[in-house]
Amino acid sequence: MRITNVRRGRIIRISSVCAILLLLIYALNKWSRNNIEAQPVISDYKASSYKSHPDEYPVLKTELGNFEPKDRIVVKGPGQEGKPYHMVGRDNDIADSESIYGMNIAASDDIAMNRTVPDTRLDECKYWHYPVNLPSTSVIIVFHNEGFSVLMRTVHTVIDRSPPNILHEIVLVDDYSDKENLGENLDKYIKRWNGKVRLIRNTQREGLIRTRSRGAQEATGDVIVFLDAHCEVNVNWLPPLLAPIYRDYRIMTVPVIDGIDHRTFEYRPVYQHGTNYRGIFEWGMLYKENEVPDRESNLHKHKSEPYKSPTHAGGLFAINRQYFLEIGAYDPGLLVWGGENFELSFKIWQCGGSIEWVPCSRVGHVYRAFMPYSFGNLAKNRKGSLITINYKRVIETWFDEEHKEYFYTREPTARFLDMGDITEQLALKDRLKCKEFSWFMENVAYDVYDKFPKLPKNTHWGMVKNKASGLCLDTMGKAAPAYIGTSSCHGTGHSQLFRLNEAGQLGVGERCVEADTESLKQAICRLGTVDGPWRYEEEHNQLIHRLHGYCLTLQAHARTLGLAPCDPNNTYQKWTITHQKANW
Ligand code: UDP
Ligand code: MN
Repeated sequence: MRITNVRRGRIIRISSVCAILLLLIYALNKWSRNNIEAQPVISDYKASSYKSHPDEYPVLKTELGNFEPKDRIVVKGPGQEGKPYHMVGRDNDIADSESIYGMNIAASDDIAMNRTVPDTRLDECKYWHYPVNLPSTSVIIVFHNEGFSVLMRTVHTVIDRSPPNILHEIVLVDDYSDKENLGENLDKYIKRWNGKVRLIRNTQREGLIRTRSRGAQEATGDVIVFLDAHCEVNVNWLPPLLAPIYRDYRIMTVPVIDGIDHRTFEYRPVYQHGTNYRGIFEWGMLYKENEVPDRESNLHKHKSEPYKSPTHAGGLFAINRQYFLEIGAYDPGLLVWGGENFELSFKIWQCGGSIEWVPCSRVGHVYRAFMPYSFGNLAKNRKGSLITINYKRVIETWFDEEHKEYFYTREPTARFLDMGDITEQLALKDRLKCKEFSWFMENVAYDVYDKFPKLPKNTHWGMVKNKASGLCLDTMGKAAPAYIGTSSCHGTGHSQLFRLNEAGQLGVGERCVEADTESLKQAICRLGTVDGPWRYEEEHNQLIHRLHGYCLTLQAHARTLGLAPCDPNNTYQKWTITHQKANW
């Protein structure tokens, strides 16, 4: 199991079976295109101003693909070929850059705009031939206070590595940045592209979600491609993304994302060569990636072919512009950041479209060390719960009653958050005659249940407060595997929010609490939900570990936690679990 820092915080990539076994199964089940199962039934919703070309599939040949560049110019200098750039003796510059931008802009400033990066694709990708009449494309890049050189490198690589007749324009949308070099300086810089790169600016901070919707409205190409403002597109990235959309305008496509290191700008693949992953979610709506299950990979003859995915990370994707607008773009009630990737995914799938990940389209993205911007007035000092409010809007619109409960079990404070009005969203769902969430789970996101079983109900949740010390259990902001400690009870955020469920699991965030005589720690929840070790003894307020028959104890002097023989008179073993604040 590998953990990588990716959009939406930490993502676990879940490797299912061992690779050899997979290969074997893959070889045994080589299906051709003709065997593809019937596609999901399309709703009778029709878009107006474009058509699909259902017979126009890309073709794999022995000669080099029709959009492959003939030659490759290597630019010498720091970061060439995507190698790490280690700045020597400039610790202050690095620290300054990272604290302002969440990435080392000083390093980026030294690296060529048109540096080459390693071709991370499968070799096979070079031999696909794509339809020649691919739709005209607007690349939309929204930004708020991004580093100038990183933003411009994104633009340069798109210009350099996209077929000029297909790339209609690049639309930069400034989400009310206040950095000086993103003002006139930027207007001046983009003049070199003679209007092909346009810049529009918000007159107030809108957040990335509304800013992307605005970009879609302003764009004039047939297809829009969204990129974050800190990307480098790889060789021949665009045609493979457009081909599925050209064939069927209801397909949204997603490039496979490579990682660019936020300190050294090293460009490297996130996934092991030749393995395909797809986007799923857990019940707290954290974005996850899972190795493509056999049920999907068996439908494809080649590993380089696009495959279906329940969702996507959010930042980078392509979609027919008209289609995007007709399905309502993003829910305008979603604020700043978070949940919009799910909203769009559920909407597309449930309302007749589909999402495909495209292994031959690779785009590098800088994963920042932390989120450097505030949420401004939009969040009214509620940065944390704002993302949960977004999730609540999305699940209240698209989930059914059963699945909503899993979300509220995993995020119990969400039940009390004010999500605003979703009447419009429900009306849209009705108008587009969208399918039930259970259809989506059974036919598309079927691998979610394997990785994240249905959750048993909570019997208790909230702050776990020790009677003797008055302190509360606290993850101290650490991610698993990590020890759990105690701190003064504040009842905000997720660090003191624990949940005990009917199956005896004590959960915190997406993790489960495990204990021995020396420690209490968060660990990855074991699959299956019947083996939780915990029981709350109401009479003596004890948290009993059933396997050991011991009680959770705060060792008074060392201030450490662990299991000890139960003693009904020991107040260091007495815990109350009380609900905490919802808004923070
Ligand atoms: N962004 C924006 N307005 C905001 C926050 C972010 O326009 O209020 C832009 C940001 O500059 C970036 C994109 O939205 O180009 C995605 O944000 P970010 O990269 O921070 O998200 P992450 O990749 O960390 O999920
Ligand atoms: Mn980003």
